[in-house]
Amino acid sequence: MPPLSQSTPRTNILKARSPGKLNLTFDILGDLPGGYHEVETLMQTVDIQDNLTFAFSRADNFSLEIKSIEFAGRAADVPVDQNNLIAKAANLFIQNIGNKVDRPETNYRISVQLRKCVPVAGGMGGGSGNAAATLVAMNSWFDSCFSNQELMDMAAKLGADVPFFINGGTQIGTERGDVLTSVEHKTDLSFLIVGPKLFGMSTPEVYRAYDEDKNDNSQRISAYAGAEALKSGNSANIAQTFGNAFEACVYSRKPELKFIANRLKKIGGYCTRLTGSGPTLYVLTKDTAESESIQKSLSDELISGINGWSDWPDLEITSFVASSTNHGVTLDVDPEL
Ligand code: ATP
Repeated sequence: MPPLSQSTPRTNILKARSPGKLNLTFDILGDLPGGYHEVETLMQTVDIQDNLTFAFSRADNFSLEIKSIEFAGRAADVPVDQNNLIAKAANLFIQNIGNKVDRPETNYRISVQLRKCVPVAGGMGGGSGNAAATLVAMNSWFDSCFSNQELMDMAAKLGADVPFFINGGTQIGTERGDVLTSVEHKTDLSFLIVGPKLFGMSTPEVYRAYDEDKNDNSQRISAYAGAEALKSGNSANIAQTFGNAFEACVYSRKPELKFIANRLKKIGGYCTRLTGSGPTLYVLTKDTAESESIQKSLSDELISGINGWSDWPDLEITSFVASSTNHGVTLDVDPEL
């Protein structure tokens, strides 16, 4: 438990980083009770990370305030109220702590600053990662009163993608994507991640589009085949196993995204795929140098308007060179603060 006495100085700041994820494979197997889809996905954390700073101060009751959210130096289009997944995670944590800690001991005001790097509403699970980071940071503050499994159980209540971010790395998600099996392998993956702005299909809309189009002849995209390929370490074989069942329904409704994906396929890399419900795309590449070279070609084409880009004059695209990581949320306590 954090010391209350003034005589024991202790930093009241916790800093956490939550990575983004890519769905290396994503398939829909059927329906689950409660209106959910049964999915099978191979997920991978990457080194594009959001930075969260939590400042704790004593108060008469528990509260959490989100002071600022910025993306690329500007205010991000993300709610700062109790709808933010950070606030939802903190409130759930405090509800659950009841039988572990005396209620007055939880009377803190937490002020949060969030610097986003993971594209917002892009299919990279940024908000889910932030929720996981909040659970991990609060658990650290409250003396690790919950086990890793208890944190995972709480995470699952916040959203299907949240538990994955507690441990991150490479994991297969089944059922709603939240029944997780970790995949051990030694392959470092390099990517160019391409995030078009101004898209406008939410995750529920993409699921609805998928249901409308449902094509029973579509090929199975196996997370287990992806995991086996990762263990083999051969990138060309690995790329063959990647895929996303949403691509057809999203590309048919968003021809500009299909165009970008086709251009990326032409420019280079082993494969270009959609992550989650999009619109973020990733190119699997040989190494960072190849990711940078594709990034440069993409930028040159976009600026000059060649190869069909002039047909889409309003496209705004951000791209990131990224690598796979073997961890989820990380925490550091800065003793200087
Ligand atoms: P999902 O597939 O869950 O929709 P995503 O990866 O596509 O997620 P997120 O960046 O997580 O995209 O944002 C999804 C939605 O959640 C957005 O509409 C956003 O406003 C909202 N949101 C709530 N809290 C956060 C947060 N801390 N960071 C980002 N978005 C958040």
